[in-house]
Amino acid sequence: MFHFCALLKPKRLPYNWIMNKIDMKTPVAELDGDEMARVLWNEIKENLIKPFVNLKTEYYDLSLQNRDATGDEVTKEAAFAIKRLGVGVKCATITANAQRQKEYGLKQIYKSPNATIRSILDGTVFREPIKTGAILPLVSCWKKPIVIGRHAYGDVYGASEFRANGPCKVELCVTGEDGVEERIPVAKMNGAGVVLAMHNLDESIRNFARSCFYYALDKKIPVWFSAKDTISKTYDGRFKDIFLEIYETEFREKCEKANISYFYTLIDDAVSRAMRSEGGFLWACKNYDGDVMSDMIASACGSLAMMTSALVSPSGAVEYEAAHGTVQKHYYRHIKGEKTSTNPCALLFAWTGALGKRAALDGLNSLGTLASTLEKAAKDAVCAGVVTADLAGSFGGKKGVSSSEFIAEIKKRTERLLKDDVL
Ligand code: NAP
Ligand code: MG
Repeated sequence: MFHFCALLKPKRLPYNWIMNKIDMKTPVAELDGDEMARVLWNEIKENLIKPFVNLKTEYYDLSLQNRDATGDEVTKEAAFAIKRLGVGVKCATITANAQRQKEYGLKQIYKSPNATIRSILDGTVFREPIKTGAILPLVSCWKKPIVIGRHAYGDVYGASEFRANGPCKVELCVTGEDGVEERIPVAKMNGAGVVLAMHNLDESIRNFARSCFYYALDKKIPVWFSAKDTISKTYDGRFKDIFLEIYETEFREKCEKANISYFYTLIDDAVSRAMRSEGGFLWACKNYDGDVMSDMIASACGSLAMMTSALVSPSGAVEYEAAHGTVQKHYYRHIKGEKTSTNPCALLFAWTGALGKRAALDGLNSLGTLASTLEKAAKDAVCAGVVTADLAGSFGGKKGVSSSEFIAEIKKRTERLLKDDVL
């Protein structure tokens, strides 16, 4: 087979890319999803990826209907495929609840697919605003992006919950491997209420800390870690201690050499400092804190759709996804036949992240160049004021273009960049 990429200098694509679509060596695991995100997923693939690449994926349909049909086995298979292939790309998926169970006639309420995947892969989700230069953050002192490092294992996402219908005594019973039971009093409830038990693992917290320090060293930015150890002395206290232990034993020297600082502070103090900072740091957050803070930062930087999200597992496998959901309200308008103005950037950047990573692993310069060209084309479109409705406010309230028009604009710009060999 003719490998044109081997003949070219790095960062160049052949002029006749239409004739020579890029061949991939190894597939990426592709996890399709639900609602408006699924509609955009397909449009992105058909219009922005497949015209340029002979796309190789291992496809897993994580639509709610297929999760139901497979008893959620498809989600687990997909997570193991990411582990095996080293790279995955995931569309947003519905997390089922009682209302969704009724809407889709589900056999049961399945766990969040993200929680299932993260519990198999472990690791840390890094979320970073997509910077275009054209959209100023709502927080005027933020000059540089704040990156969230969200621990992806356990806590409330892997919790067991219980609804007490009346007065009761609640204890936590822990049985050791030797069969010895220990009972920890939780509460004497004098009426109906709710109970929750959650856990984490020292080894997962260690990996969380390690991946944050590696990320910070790579990007040359300081690390903050925040939790609430004043209230949760044992649980959050363990996070704080492990982070410090990993820093002292494995990273202090490297960080000092690179002039990278690490500090721990309470989550409420971190929030207040972040709002007064100029940005430019990695904020390591526990699972739930990271979920909330990344949405806050994405919204302050323009839109939930202007953020990248990558789950980095300790095995080295990476799953790229959008941080937003399935955009349900837009989907209901879409199925009524309305044109929606849903921003595809986060989904596109999930694809470019995955293809860029595959390119780096497989030594495919042309694929890496395509990924960065698509990103540049999307950012250029935004800078030129061709934006979807979520970003229109940043451009004097002009009407946003439809998703399809925005995707067509990115395609046109990508073709031009590749033709002009601008990169
Ligand atoms: P959502 O999909 O994130 O959307 C919430 C709102 O944010 C939208 O109604 C829209 O605001 C705005 N928005 C989000 N993404 C946008 C985009 N790409 N372009 C333009 N606007 C965007 O959250 P949701 O509607 O509350 O949740 C829908 C489903 O997504 C739920 O079933 C939830 O379980 C699931 N979910 C999945 C993931 C995931 O798989 N990663 C993450 C979160 C939620 P306007 O309506 O004001 O335009
Ligand atoms: Mg969220």
